Amino acid sequence: MDLPNQSPMSSRRVIVKCGTAVMLGSEGKLQGALLMSLAQQIRGLRDQGYEVVVVSSGAVGMGRSLLKTGQEDLREKQALAALGQVELMNVWRRLFDLLDIQVAQVLLTREDLRARERYLNARNTLVTLLQAGVLPVINENDSVAVTEIRFGDNDILSCLVGALVDAEVVINLTQAPGLLDFSSDPPTRIRLVPAITPDILKLVRSETSRGGTGGMLSKLEAARVALECGTSMVIAKAQEPDVLVRLMQGEDIGTRFQSGGRRLSSRKRWLAAGGAPRGKLHLDAGATKALAAGRSVLPVGIRQVEGEFGIGDLVSLLDPEGQERGRGLVNYPSHELHKLIGQPSANLEALLGYRGHPEAVHRDHLYAKEMS
Ligand code: GLU
Repeated sequence: MDLPNQSPMSSRRVIVKCGTAVMLGSEGKLQGALLMSLAQQIRGLRDQGYEVVVVSSGAVGMGRSLLKTGQEDLREKQALAALGQVELMNVWRRLFDLLDIQVAQVLLTREDLRARERYLNARNTLVTLLQAGVLPVINENDSVAVTEIRFGDNDILSCLVGALVDAEVVINLTQAPGLLDFSSDPPTRIRLVPAITPDILKLVRSETSRGGTGGMLSKLEAARVALECGTSMVIAKAQEPDVLVRLMQGEDIGTRFQSGGRRLSSRKRWLAAGGAPRGKLHLDAGATKALAAGRSVLPVGIRQVEGEFGIGDLVSLLDPEGQERGRGLVNYPSHELHKLIGQPSANLEALLGYRGHPEAVHRDHLYAKEMS
């Protein structure tokens, strides 16, 4: 593999997420023809200058077809994933070999994106692969991921990977033609969603109660992450002919979650989506307003501190109603911050016994959500 010098210019990147049902259908059988068609479309996008990352599920499902286990508790699923992941990569490698594309496997856990240094390492690996013309195929590292460090599903993972490599769009391929509104008969496809509002979330409930495609809620959660980072996401049916190519030509297929164009810097994207907060700061109304204006959080505006965290850890910033309004890296460990709650800056030195930062979270290290 020839490794070119990394250019600072980010290219047009697309994430293509294939769920287990896309890989294996509803019967657990490899969907060879469909996957070949998707691989050819990916080749087509690359020929047009797009850099593509595939996020592929199916390790557990493929493991299941290779080995019969008993109960399938977490340990067994992890073992099946280890077995099936080899097969999963074999499938992608064989397909892309036919199209002269090299593939590389990247397995991630939430923990890998939580610490900024590991986040940057993952980013560097992916960008280096893309710039060398290699197609990264990503899955959750199920074999080592216990609950606390799991993404849970590849919907969220694909959007975090989108944030990681600054993708233009995450295409979430599924069995459904998009997000459907079942209140009309026949159900109508929602074409465009600019924000995840309570009305949009309500559509999922009615859809699920009518036995529609499962997992739509997690797709909407993932879309929320994407939109917060300034990435668009599309949910579309994998079997739609030339779906990837037509989507990138702007055709109206599936449901498009259109980002308003607020592109966050890489650092802000990590704050918004990469890290998992270790604690919460409950702010008063004044501090909430200051946060929305992008100003630092001062101890005087904190009403309550939750969780145990150290200096530099990521914390959630909540308004008086308990709604998350942003995230940031905190200047004090939780045990010290407890002492500073509600205190004006002039008192801090006496309370701490040393001269600390006037801000609990500095504005350079925070991300404020855009509220709709
Ligand atoms: N990582 C799991 C697998 O490969 C699937 C997770 C998901 O479907 O979202 O089997």
